[in-house]
Amino acid sequence: MIVEQNVALAPHNSFGIVAKARELVRVRNEADVLAVLADPELGHRPKFVLGGGSNIVLTGDVRALVLKVEIMGRRVVDDGPRSTIVEIGAGEGWHEAVRWTLEQGFPGLENLALIPGTVGASPVQNVGAYGVELQDRFESLDAIDLQTGRLFTLEAAQCAFGYRDSVFKHPPPDEADPGTSPRGMGLAGRALILRVRLRLPKPWKPVLGYLDLERKMAESGVREPSARQIFDWVCAIRSVKLPDPRVIGNAGSFFKNPTVTPEQCTDIIAREPGIVHYPMPDGSVKLAAGWLIDACGWKGKSVGNAGVYEKQALVLVNRGGATGGEVVTLARAIQTSVYERFGIRLEPEPVVV
Ligand SMILES: Cc1cc2nc3c(=O)[nH]c(=O)nc-3n(C[C@H](O)[C@H](O)[C@H](O)COP(=O)(O)OP(=O)(O)OC[C@H]3O[C@@H](n4cnc5c(N)ncnc54)[C@H](O)[C@@H]3O)c2cc1C
Repeated sequence: MIVEQNVALAPHNSFGIVAKARELVRVRNEADVLAVLADPELGHRPKFVLGGGSNIVLTGDVRALVLKVEIMGRRVVDDGPRSTIVEIGAGEGWHEAVRWTLEQGFPGLENLALIPGTVGASPVQNVGAYGVELQDRFESLDAIDLQTGRLFTLEAAQCAFGYRDSVFKHPPPDEADPGTSPRGMGLAGRALILRVRLRLPKPWKPVLGYLDLERKMAESGVREPSARQIFDWVCAIRSVKLPDPRVIGNAGSFFKNPTVTPEQCTDIIAREPGIVHYPMPDGSVKLAAGWLIDACGWKGKSVGNAGVYEKQALVLVNRGGATGGEVVTLARAIQTSVYERFGIRLEPEPVVV
């Protein structure tokens, strides 16, 4: 086991925030994790699990021991008549894994193309895009308990997936405020995901009910796109809409789209007739967080070197040399003005470290 000291984290977070890990260990298999846990020095230290760093805001040097997940491997576990199950190491790039499944002839993940980060982090916020969420294709995962070293497997129901949410985003019961944590057995900071199994259903059915994809169909005249065609469309749409973190630091959508009751929505529409909203199958109404932020006049504004992306108010960006503190201050100011105008509390997506 190699413990690296004072490791620069700017290349390992998509915001490009300058910070260091005091100590970092790269984990390439579960034996590496067990070696850390068995180490008399490191075993009891607080730990932070790092994937691709595309959903974190670093507010300073990380004092916890950073476990950088580099567990590789992709294999087909089962190829049956109703579905194919693939197993992918947590350190594999998510987008590369999506492309690999398509190349193997197993469609189903194409709507989730070009989401940055690792496969191991995909269950943490139940990644989703263009009408598909991880939970729609999830079979199970293997993880390791960072306190006890116990290996365990979780099925979908045990992950408590929700919109950009899972058991991995909530603190364990002993740390949780019972009044605020909706997920009974939170695993935030407690579990390191080793590998994820995905179930790709047969026969494949395209998921096309998304406005941008419908536009692509209309423009191209393709009525029955292949999975590869959808993959290419999603990549093209995302490349236009979202800033490339290699050019402008960001963490994708910074806030979740809030949901309100139909009554609340009617009340808001009476005051703000233009509000962008989508009725949900469960009767609630989802509001476009980007619209709320834009309506408060934030597009293009900055706090220090952290700013609101000019083309999409939902994305906060590093204009060059931003600190995590500036990003958090900007995010709080946005939350305050959205709350004061609409009475809605925006919830951030990224994890503040
Ligand atoms: C340009 C851009 C576009 C994006 N678009 C989308 C989108 O469309 N949909 C979407 O859902 N998200 C999107 N995101 C957010 C991000 O890509 C996802 O949340 C992704 O899953 C994060 O992966 P990561 O490996 O970078 O995780 P990190 O940022 O490294 O970590 C995120 C959290 O997961 C934990 N974690 C990471 N790996 C593991 C592991 N192996 N075991 C346990 N915990 C772990 C970390 O401790 C941390 O709490 C976007 C981000 C960017 C920059």
